[in-house]
Amino acid sequence: MPLQLIRSELLCSENFIAGRWQSAAAAAHYDVVDPASGTVFAHVPDSGPADARDAADAAAAAFGAWRARSARERAQLLKRWHALIQANADDLARLISSEQGKPLAEARGEVAYGASYVEWFAEEAVRAYGDMIPEPVRGKKLMVVKEPVGIVAAVTPWNFPLAMIARKIAPALAAGCTVVAKPAEDTPLTALALVRLAAEAGIPDGVINLVTASRAQTPAVVQAWMDDGRVRKVTFTGSTAVGKMLARGAADTLKKLSLELGGNAPFIVFEDADIDAAVDGLMAAKFRNGGQTCVSPNRVYVQRSVYDLFAARLTARVAALKVGPATDPEAQVGPMINARAIEKIVQHVGDALAHGGTVLTGGERLRLAGVAGTTFFAPTVIGDACPDMRLAHEETFGPVIALFPFDGEDEVVALANDTPYGLASYFYASDLARVWRVAERLDSGIVGINEGALAAEAAPFGGVKESGYGREGSRYGLDDYMHTKYLCMGGLR
Ligand code: NAD
Repeated sequence: MPLQLIRSELLCSENFIAGRWQSAAAAAHYDVVDPASGTVFAHVPDSGPADARDAADAAAAAFGAWRARSARERAQLLKRWHALIQANADDLARLISSEQGKPLAEARGEVAYGASYVEWFAEEAVRAYGDMIPEPVRGKKLMVVKEPVGIVAAVTPWNFPLAMIARKIAPALAAGCTVVAKPAEDTPLTALALVRLAAEAGIPDGVINLVTASRAQTPAVVQAWMDDGRVRKVTFTGSTAVGKMLARGAADTLKKLSLELGGNAPFIVFEDADIDAAVDGLMAAKFRNGGQTCVSPNRVYVQRSVYDLFAARLTARVAALKVGPATDPEAQVGPMINARAIEKIVQHVGDALAHGGTVLTGGERLRLAGVAGTTFFAPTVIGDACPDMRLAHEETFGPVIALFPFDGEDEVVALANDTPYGLASYFYASDLARVWRVAERLDSGIVGINEGALAAEAAPFGGVKESGYGREGSRYGLDDYMHTKYLCMGGLR
């Protein structure tokens, strides 16, 4: 284990089904790797369809009793879980850093962020109000109640191993649903520790069931849930390609879906912006998790009159970032998650240079002295970017910023919206009329206005276009896990 735990029992290496820790039916395992060193430090079950079905059976068996609990009881259990996440924050952060690679300080931030969703949905559980509708004819009463959708299947990514699963399981449980979950193959350990804490909090057996699987086995595990008519909802965060497959798969049993998919966020700096604030905002938005974040700006559009000034200030900041493993307390950017991820970054940078881009800083893989890992990439700024580059159209998911000069507002809004994605956009400007014009014209689910840090449990997180649908967090977040049922009572004359 790259970072030792205080409570060693939080390093769990079995599936959690019906309240029991168990191996995969086929007794297969796969390796968990520390991306900073490339060493294997744990093994978890390589589950198959039989394990997925066991998990769904357990969730089905637990559903009736769980939905029958009062909202207050469910809220209290979620609050206890929240308290245990906070009490074990150091260990959870060590697990995140060990399997995912982000610096420890950032991992602690992720624990607090993930925990905030558990607390939020504990508070929302008791506010899943229905409605009384004024009757259109006499002698009838028209009512609306909210009901849990049923079993929820959660499939989560590796970039936020705790926060992504917490913000799916917490609303599901608050609504009265039970869950089957599969964390990303690269980062199963944080999720397993999280469900151990849920069990310690008293969340009943079968309410949360978690199976792990390698990338090769994952499609079969998830397919078992897609084929299962008892699973009524799928909630997924990850690539658009997999999200589309799940949307197709969900059609046969018409499951409800929440898809939080890829982005290619534009970040626009107008000439009337506070340039230093814009640099600060971009640094915060871009280098969280080394750029491996779905709301990370990929395309930075800078008005020509301030382009050189902005490029110089930004480049100085980026060049000063410290790259290193999570065991280095000064590291600000960790390794990329795996070989596939860094290969994509290398290709995007090569393609940008082939299309006339210039490297202002970085631009290459790094081999760090005394560190065995091979997935470190230098924080990079590319100047003179143009729309022909791959990074103008695809998510790079790494520490690479491309600067595109622009001249006018209409031009830059068209460029920003010229993408199939629509998760987040950012812009910096001071003219209030411009602020409202641009905020309304950007096609994305989230807009940062003179702000680089957007995510909060109280706010609705989600996209438009091929960035998916559904919202996580906020007072809207519970709706994705509930049905609206209409009750009509007659004979009241
Ligand atoms: P991915 O979509 O392949 O993985 C996300 C989750 O989907 C994981 O749990 C994975 O096991 C699962 N999965 C993979 N193939 C599946 C299949 N056929 N059926 C069912 N589930 C499947 O993402 P990735 O390959 O790890 O990353 C690729 C790119 O996706 C990244 O470069 C980035 O652009 C994007 N991404 C976005 C987010 C986000 O936060 N929106 C997170 C991770 C990755």
